[in-house]
Amino acid sequence: MSAARVAVIGGGLAGLAAAAELRRRGVVPVVFEREASVGGVVRTIHRDGWLIDTGPAMAAEPSPVVRELLDAVGVSNVTVRAGSAGATRYIVLNGAPVLLPRTTSELSSSSLLSIAGRLRLLKERLIPAQRDVSDESVDRFARRRFGAEMAERMFDPLIASTSAGDPRQILARYAFPAIVDQGRAGSALQRSARARIESRRRAKGRASGSWSCADGMQQLAERLAAWSGDVRTSTSVRRIRSIAGGMEVSASGAEAERFDAVIVAVPATGFGAITFDLPAADRLLAVSTIPHVSVASVSLGFRRDSVGHPLDASRLLVPSIERRNVLSMVFPSSLFPDRAPPDHVLITAFVGGVFQPDLISRGDTELVAAVLEECSSLLAVSGPPVLVNVARWPKTLPQAVAGHGERLAEVDRVERAESRIAFTGAWRDGLAVGEVLLGGVQAAGRIAAQLS
Ligand SMILES: Cc1cc2nc3c(=O)[nH]c(=O)nc-3n(C[C@H](O)[C@H](O)[C@H](O)COP(=O)(O)OP(=O)(O)OC[C@H]3O[C@@H](n4cnc5c(N)ncnc54)[C@H](O)[C@@H]3O)c2cc1C
Repeated sequence: MSAARVAVIGGGLAGLAAAAELRRRGVVPVVFEREASVGGVVRTIHRDGWLIDTGPAMAAEPSPVVRELLDAVGVSNVTVRAGSAGATRYIVLNGAPVLLPRTTSELSSSSLLSIAGRLRLLKERLIPAQRDVSDESVDRFARRRFGAEMAERMFDPLIASTSAGDPRQILARYAFPAIVDQGRAGSALQRSARARIESRRRAKGRASGSWSCADGMQQLAERLAAWSGDVRTSTSVRRIRSIAGGMEVSASGAEAERFDAVIVAVPATGFGAITFDLPAADRLLAVSTIPHVSVASVSLGFRRDSVGHPLDASRLLVPSIERRNVLSMVFPSSLFPDRAPPDHVLITAFVGGVFQPDLISRGDTELVAAVLEECSSLLAVSGPPVLVNVARWPKTLPQAVAGHGERLAEVDRVERAESRIAFTGAWRDGLAVGEVLLGGVQAAGRIAAQLS
């Protein structure tokens, strides 16, 4: 009997992880990707000795199943780990960067919080657990459990640096599922400290922490694609139809093709361009209503001696109450080798997001000038950049706001009505690279189980 064939629509990290996992399970994947290259928002540029990731520049330690896939497809051989800088972050406090506390005890003695803020934080263990937090925003959750200062100084910039969203709108259970679970069971502070000790104990003897690939994040996408086999780039899927005992996929410039099943890994904003001819397909309209925000990444390279700040960290977080023109800044050359030529440093700033949507529509010169001003004031940059790269990401970051759970429930219903289709991607499984890869692996697992 010949192996089952599954169409994977979308060659971003979700689709590529799904395809690679299918292949590992003995199923034949065929990836359809609209663009000329795979990776989706993953994009690595090589220019005059610089390596610039204009989308994701690093990933957090993945779950064991994702690690297994990365080992199998040869990504682990090209993985580079962030050195000690990876565990350090700065945060802007009253116009200047200060070290972000890493532990509860560092936090309770840090200048980040006033004495009143620290006392309020210590009271967290007395706050009664709340069972139903399904509609609670990040801001409300953080204020209720940890106090206003923690909400404004810690949770707000973490949201800015991940989804560029509004913490008063983003739901806590999607943005910080582990902390919300811990808070539901009692003191989140005590439990997360215990969880950290436990994960350090488990990681003993093996490398862990933030990682990328030697040749940038694009190498991750390319390794997954190479392992998957049949990847058809510059091919846009227009229609997906249930047929007797299988699924039919129609793509641009090709005859409709029959598959045993389909995994849809396109962004929520791409659903409108595909006709879904399946049972309960009208429920997929809910996916198109997920709001998205736009960001731009502005990468600037400097001579090392023109930057006063040591950049001895992974990033600089920026609370919105500081009213700056950047959402966060990442320091790739402090994390991984060969991101900048010798004696140079690379800084990538993110701008735009829900609070400053107009910023990214400015011309490159104005945008770069705004970021340079922030670099000079926050990082003591004194010389001109020797490298400039601007990448715009319009309506790219999905926002898990009120109604998100209901929207995802509609997708569950479609999967129940047509067991030969599975949906995955950042809009469903979480934004971070590790979450997206895990979502793809799990979608492949559901389909492989169905086919066997
Ligand atoms: C600027 C930026 C920086 C980020 N930084 C980080 C970071 O440092 N760390 C981290 O963990 N996460 C980061 N993220 C988040 C993470 O990179 C993304 O959430 C993740 O890569 C999204 O993967 P995806 O496969 O769901 O979607 P996408 O990457 O959007 O891939 C979907 C693919 O589907 C294709 N497609 C769409 N429609 C069709 C169609 N009809 N037919 C065929 N193909 C189609 C698209 O062309 C695209 O290639 C960042 C995101 C952005 C935008």
